[in-house]
Amino acid sequence: MFIKEDVLKALSHVDDPDLNKDLVTLNMIRDIEIKDNELWFSVFLTTPACPLKEMIETACRNAISHFISPNIKVHIKMTAEVMADNKTTAQLPNVKNIIAIASGKGGVGKSTVSASLAAILNQYGASVGLLDADIYGPSIPLMFGVQNKGIEMVVEEGKELMQPINADGVKLFSIGFLSKPDEAIVWRGPMISQALKQFINGVNWGELDYLIIDLPPGTGDVQLTLVQTLPITGAVIVTTPQNMAISDAKRAAAMFAMPSINIPILGVIENMAYFTPTDMPDKKYYIFGQGGAQVLAEQFNTKVIGQLPIQENLMTDLDTGKISNSSSLKNFSEIAKRLAQSIAIQNSKNNNESASKG
Ligand code: ADP
Repeated sequence: MFIKEDVLKALSHVDDPDLNKDLVTLNMIRDIEIKDNELWFSVFLTTPACPLKEMIETACRNAISHFISPNIKVHIKMTAEVMADNKTTAQLPNVKNIIAIASGKGGVGKSTVSASLAAILNQYGASVGLLDADIYGPSIPLMFGVQNKGIEMVVEEGKELMQPINADGVKLFSIGFLSKPDEAIVWRGPMISQALKQFINGVNWGELDYLIIDLPPGTGDVQLTLVQTLPITGAVIVTTPQNMAISDAKRAAAMFAMPSINIPILGVIENMAYFTPTDMPDKKYYIFGQGGAQVLAEQFNTKVIGQLPIQENLMTDLDTGKISNSSSLKNFSEIAKRLAQSIAIQNSKNNNESASKG
């Protein structure tokens, strides 16, 4: 016979390798039930896109077998409760994390990355919002095929809010919904910043694990105001391997690293990193050069969390609004996992710091 305390004691030998603490201390082990020689419990990971899911499950089974008995029939429910950024929830209680996707230059694939990450995190089971704040080219509605949708107003707790569009499960809001497709948006800096803030507070986002913001490219007034005023958990820098793109990306990264802004850079994504012809699947041609993203990441004390090939089918899927079903999304699954992991590590670090400050 064994009791709940035995289970907790056994599982306290299993560490989350990212957070460097054991699962019991991290309150990840819940719903323990025991009947004769059978045991049920849930493991609450910090994100449904956890790359260590299988490893942690195996470690739990081994711990029960080793510290209690190998003859117990163990049923584990691997589930997740996304860790929240205290800074974000202080301003937006229902939004756990805000992730800014930035680039130095336009056309490097920032919107493609934003939309793909949103789609794949949603497919992993997270609740995801996507704010297309790229005032110079709001292209995300097109990628999800919802460019003709209109925005409706709803009243929530006495407040009139704009209802985001449901794009295959992702809650999407774009500055593009408020203008005609061919109409140029010529707004001045302060007006844009004001409007974008309205898209955070004036949209009925509801409960979100991740709100992904596709920022306009560059490091102008708009970006500066946004990153200074929004409770952003971290930023992702998207670049191509070209020298020119890298040097612009450095400026974008430097903006986040400014002491007055101090937003952690969660990783660098190198898009259009190489080309693999369909008839030569083992070949990689580095058309735009190689190694720049790595140098950039090292300079800002972060990692390259993904390298994406140039893909013809991705381009057609984006142009025809099929991003959620695109076969190219599989290229984003590992990147999304690394990003989710990086967010959880960042939040855990912040929580520890604020706890030690009392
Ligand atoms: P940005 O947001 O940086 O301006 P976009 O995401 O809009 O860039 O991408 C610019 C163009 O490049 C789009 O037409 C998109 O379909 C295409 N594109 C982006 N990434 C890739 C890729 N890996 N392979 C092929 N085409 C891509």
